[in-house]
Parts: sequence; C-alpha cells; structure tokens
Amino acid sequence: MDGKIVITCACTGAETTKAQNPALPVTPEEIADAACEAWLAGASILHLHVRDENGNPTQSPAVFRKAIGLIRRKCNIIVEITTGGAVGDTAEERLRPLIEIEPEMASLDCGTVNFGNEYITNTLPVMRRFAEEFRARKVRPTLECFDLGHIYASRMLVKEGLLIPPYHYGLVMNVPGAVPYTADNLEIFKRALPEGAYFTVMGVGKSSLPAQYGAIATNGWIRVGFEDNVYFSKGVLAKSNAELVERAAGIARLSGLEIATSDDVRSILDLKG
Ligand code: ZN
Repeated sequence: MDGKIVITCACTGAETTKAQNPALPVTPEEIADAACEAWLAGASILHLHVRDENGNPTQSPAVFRKAIGLIRRKCNIIVEITTGGAVGDTAEERLRPLIEIEPEMASLDCGTVNFGNEYITNTLPVMRRFAEEFRARKVRPTLECFDLGHIYASRMLVKEGLLIPPYHYGLVMNVPGAVPYTADNLEIFKRALPEGAYFTVMGVGKSSLPAQYGAIATNGWIRVGFEDNVYFSKGVLAKSNAELVERAAGIARLSGLEIATSDDVRSILDLKG
C-alpha cells in the first residue's frame, strides 16, 4: 500500500455497553467527540453505529444524520456507516441509513455467522439487494467476512457485477462461535481475496493486538475501537477510543509505515468524496 496503512476506528458498535467501559461514546455528541479524537490520533475511517436515547442500537437515519452533522463540524474523517445493524434487525431496517444518507462508505456483511449465542443472517439474495443499493449510490462497501465462505460468497457478487473495484474487505476474526484470529487463518483469508483487494483486519476481544501485528505483517490495514475491544491490556480498560488508535498508529510507525490520511483513503478507495 505504498508504505501507508489505514486505521479504522469502530468507536461504539451495537453490542458494547457503558457497563463494560464507561468511556463508551453513546450519544451523537459523545460519538462526534470520540470520532474526532480518533481522527487526530491517526484514524482515517470511522465505522459508525448509533444509539437511541436509551442507549440501545438504532438504524434511525435521523440519529445517524445528527451524529454525522456533528462530526463534519469538527473533522474530515471518512464515515463508514453500518448496514450490519444489531442482532435481530431486519434487512430493510439495516439498509435505511445507507439509502437515506448515501455515505462515502458502509459495511456490507457477506454471510451468516454465529455471533456469540446469537447469529447474524445474510442470505445471498439479501446480499445482492444490499450490493445493488451500494452500487446505485456509489457507496464503497467494506465487505465484512466473518468466515472463509463469506469471501467466496462476495466473489459470487463480484462475478455478477454487483461489486465494483477497488474492493475493500473487513476480515472479522475472533467473534465467539466464528473463526478465531491466528496468523494462519489470516493468511488463508488473505489468499482467498480477489486480486488487488485491500483488507482491514478486525480482531475482536483479546485478539485485537495480535491482529494489528498480523495486519502489518500481511500488508493489511487495522481496525480498533470499543466495538471490537474495550481493553487496553489484560484487565485494564482503554481510557478512550483514541488511546487504542494512538497505540495502533505507534505500532505502524515503528514498523516503518506512514499513517494514511482520510484524503489518502478517498483516493486509494476511489470514494465519491
Ligand atoms: Zn459494526
């Protein structure tokens, strides 16, 4: 990647709670502050989930719009909204913010998978419907793959012309009940990607730090943030999302990499801007 690495911050997620880490940003104001602190620390992409007034996950376009408006006043970070939503959301609920807001980027889940004691459902017809909406609005998908089979499912959409290059994958590893993060598993995932695809490694829980090193070793990109992991080290909660981004950026710099800016990513991934 020309010596540059891209850091995504997933600052809130759908399932993380303030009980797990009191520093979790939940309101649009808190999310905007966290996003811009993360941006200053080196994140060029924000993976965005929002919550309702009770702190529960919502796909309400109005709440997304409010958070994005506040972010835009403060910083230039790329906003990648979730279309994964929360466990149990219908496909139409999940798509609403994509359709109404038409962001630069959004996540696109590439298959069905265990998610702890729950599961995430994405049939091929649902994935095709999502991909058509992305294509029509020129929204760059992050193709989230929780399993090797998901990469092959995404390649079916590539063959069908539903996905347009450059491709950006999110390799989600260590979700309980799905593929654990190991260097071998990451290598196998990487080998299955379409030629020239970019990929971000998302290590959940205690795999977050090893997955960051794995990303660097395989020429991939990094995602950190409270959606994936609320700890800084064993038993020590992270003080903020920015603290996690700052460490990731430090590791990358020590490895001789430059941290990509949001405008670098707009150019690499050919975003509509
Ligand atoms: Zn997410």
